[in-house]
Amino acid sequence: MKKIPEIFYLKQSIILKPIAMFTKHLFESYKDFKETNLTHRRIKHSDIIPLIKNAGNMFNVNSIGKSCENRDIFQINIGNGEKKILLWSQMHGNEPTATQTIFDLLNFFKNPKQFKNEADSILNACKLFFVPMLNPDGAEQFQRRNAQQIDINRDAFKTISPESKLLMNSVDELKPDFGFNLHDQDIWYASGNTAYPATISFLAPAFDSEKTIDSKRKRSMQIIASMNTMLQQFIPGQTAKYNDDFMPTAFGDTIQQKGTSVMLIESGGYKNDPEKQFVRKLNFISILHALKIIADNSYQTESVDSYNKISPNVKNCLFDYIIRNAKFTGQVGNYTTDIGIRSISKTEQDLYLIDDIGDLSQHFAYKEIEFSGNPIHQYKIGDSADKLINRFFTELK
Ligand SMILES: [Zn+2]
Repeated sequence: MKKIPEIFYLKQSIILKPIAMFTKHLFESYKDFKETNLTHRRIKHSDIIPLIKNAGNMFNVNSIGKSCENRDIFQINIGNGEKKILLWSQMHGNEPTATQTIFDLLNFFKNPKQFKNEADSILNACKLFFVPMLNPDGAEQFQRRNAQQIDINRDAFKTISPESKLLMNSVDELKPDFGFNLHDQDIWYASGNTAYPATISFLAPAFDSEKTIDSKRKRSMQIIASMNTMLQQFIPGQTAKYNDDFMPTAFGDTIQQKGTSVMLIESGGYKNDPEKQFVRKLNFISILHALKIIADNSYQTESVDSYNKISPNVKNCLFDYIIRNAKFTGQVGNYTTDIGIRSISKTEQDLYLIDDIGDLSQHFAYKEIEFSGNPIHQYKIGDSADKLINRFFTELK
């Protein structure tokens, strides 16, 4: 395992601040709010229907329209305040973490227990509009795209898909002050070039190619800076921020352009959390932290500089598994090199495949091991890695 560069520790310690008691207590009490009917990543529309039907009469629940395959897409509203906040999740069908978090949040607002003061202050200052599982047809297949094979997050400009139209209609009708664009990212993103996974990544999307920072985008950056600082207490060094190149077909960028302060939150990987239930909990405290600082305007003391200092999100830095210095033998000779293994998500399950063979000294993995024992025969990229995982990692699980 490569060492974490020392400079990285230094950088993280600079941004560490005393924990806000609200999020510390929320973290400790999360089990009181967790929606226990949702326990794994492959959730479907039929899993959330009963939860929406039983949401309770403090919520205003509407179907805002149908997906391609005729599944209802819901909007759930609560709050009496002036600040309008729209939160939408799972526009990519295989990105369910924040959908689960939304149902945890509904439980929180239904019965906030010892956090009644905080819940009241949020609901007195804000009106919340939740749109969970924007792409239910994709969720059914556990695939990114909708039933038309359109990537909804590249459809914000033309809104060809019905799901895109519904989200854009909500935005145009509500004109929200703040928007939470909730996604999952590959678990192989790292926070900078390190072995630390980017467990939560952020973006304050640009609304033009000059990446102008106007007052609305500045608010996004301030809120993200505050969430990022707060999260260091729970996942030090495991946050990152996306590149902010302007993408006019993406929803975050387009909604930011319409004058909403958008915060993209991406749920990434965390060691030994294959169903992302810990990452779901981090979403819960992050969003409630953000709602609280929006409600009381305390985000305004945060700086753009603090946002800019968040480590970059580095794609494909990590593997699920790396076998170091594997000894190969066979027709193409005897040689020693590294093997990288990654999972791919199919409708029913994850498959582990050989993803790279060669010098992986610049990469990291959730689980790494030095090769030992008898040499192995040649593998091809894309071959199943099950045998190798069983041979080298079973005892590490
Ligand atoms: Zn996504």
